[in-house]
Formats: sequence, structure tokens, C-alpha cells
Amino acid sequence: MSKFSTILVAIDFSDSSDNAFQMALSMAKSFSARLLILHVINEPVDMRGFYVPHISFQKLEEEINEGAQKMMESFCRQNMHGFEDFESLIVSGLPYEQIIAQAEEKSADLIVIGTHGRAGLDHVLFGSTAEKVVRKSKIPVLTVRLEEG
Ligand code: AMP
Repeated sequence: MSKFSTILVAIDFSDSSDNAFQMALSMAKSFSARLLILHVINEPVDMRGFYVPHISFQKLEEEINEGAQKMMESFCRQNMHGFEDFESLIVSGLPYEQIIAQAEEKSADLIVIGTHGRAGLDHVLFGSTAEKVVRKSKIPVLTVRLEEG
């Protein structure tokens, strides 16, 4: 089996991604790998400078960034004690594009994601981010399904 040295886990703060995160953390520990924890601020592309006046949009963006930063800090505080070889990343854009782009940029050798995110969508096998990452990534992807109930 290949040795994974850098594992990227993509989190959207849903139960499904928490579950994927636990798998990624335990793999990082087993392989002594570096863990990259990525959250993508899903950019409201249609709103950019169009419906909302520029200045208030800028303020909104700042507040979104600060909120995301706080959520990530609290997530890492709760989950990362006892494991130090990690980096948290927050970027804006389309989640599936950024998950792949960041994994490539940081030379990750495995991407870990949940099969579903915050939208749920139980009737489909994969949520849309999961499906696109699996279809388009050249880096191996591990999808983790949350068994409920
Ligand atoms: P989805 O396909 O949107 O139902 O989400 C499936 C998985 O993709 C989630 O469990 C996360 O691992 C990842 N994901 C979805 N949205 C984001 C996001 N905005 N930032 C980081 N990871 C995400």
C-alpha cells in the first residue's frame, strides 16, 4: 500500500464531514502524515458586486471570513489536541474546485471528504461536491459515508 504523507480533509462543519474528518485524523496518525484541514467559503457568485452595493458587500465578506475563521479555530481546538502536524486552510470559491486546487498546490496524496454535506440529499448516492471531486480529482479520493440511526 502507498504511504500517505499529506492528507487533505475537506470540512463544511456538517455531521458528515465531521465523520470524514475523524477517519482522516486517524489515518494521519497511523501514517504519521501531515493533515490539511480545508474549509471553502462557498462564494455567492451571483451576488458579487451586483445585487449588493460594493461597500456593504465588502463588509459582508469580511464578516463571513471572520465567522469562518472562528468556526475553524473552534473546530481545531476541539479536535486537534494531541496531534500537531496539521494546517488549517480557509479559501473562497467553488468547494469542489478549491478542494482539488488546494490538494494539488499542497501536494496532498489523499483527499478525504464526506459523501454528503450540509444539504443532506439522502436520495442521491453522493452530494454534488463529493461527486465532482471524485470525478475530477487526479489525486486519490476517499469518501466516507455517515451511517445514521
Ligand atoms: P456535498 O457533496 O456538498 O453534499 O458535500 C460532501 C462533502 O464535501 C462534505 O462532507 C465535505 O467533506 C465536502 N464539502 C462540501 N462543501 C464543502 C465546503 N464548503 N468546504 C469544504 N468541504 C466541503
